Parts: sequence; C-alpha cells; structure tokens
Amino acid sequence: MADGVQKLAALQDIDLMIRDVSEEKDLGFSTEGRVSLDEAREKLAGQIENRDLRLYERLRKRYDRAVVPVIDHRCVGCSNMVPTARRMSGEDRTTRKVVVCENCGRILFFV
Ligand SMILES: [Zn+2]
Repeated sequence: MADGVQKLAALQDIDLMIRDVSEEKDLGFSTEGRVSLDEAREKLAGQIENRDLRLYERLRKRYDRAVVPVIDHRCVGCSNMVPTARRMSGEDRTTRKVVVCENCGRILFFV
C-alpha cells in the first residue's frame, strides 16, 4: 500500500475511534482516551500531504468511511468496478496522487 494511503487509512481509524469515544461521553463514560486520540490524530495529520488531507476531510462529510479497500476489483463503498491499471498500487503511477473511485469518489486502497 502506498504510504500516503496507509496514513489516510490510519487517520480514518483514529477518527472512527474519536467518534466512538464521543458517543461514550454522551452516555456518561470517562473521556480520558479522547485527549491522546486527538494528539495522535494531529501528529498523523501533520505527516499527510495537504492535498490528500483536504480530500479526506471533504469525503468524510459525505461518507461514514472515506477510505475503503478494493476487494475483488470492486470499490467496497459502492461496488463499482475499479480499472485494472489501478489495481496494483494505492497511488496513480503517473500523477502520484491517491486513487479515488470514479463512481463515488472515495479514496481507495488495495489489499
Ligand atoms: Zn466507489
């Protein structure tokens, strides 16, 4: 997996954990874990290219998961077929940009 996509996937994991912790807070549980999650998120976000980070933030408003795997040549987010040339890497070889699904726009990674 390309480095940029790997970090975006990790960032998404942290964001989902932050969301879980926030929901627990609403239920009256302790929020100690929240602070370290915020710190980890900030640190990781600083290592991601601005362009990729902005794309991720935009997608996150629209989808529960902005970064999804490609399984059996299909985007897990919308089941759209992903072109063969893009299967091998989580990064477009010519533009070096992260690969997004042509149908739903989610960021793709290849497992
Ligand atoms: Zn898709």
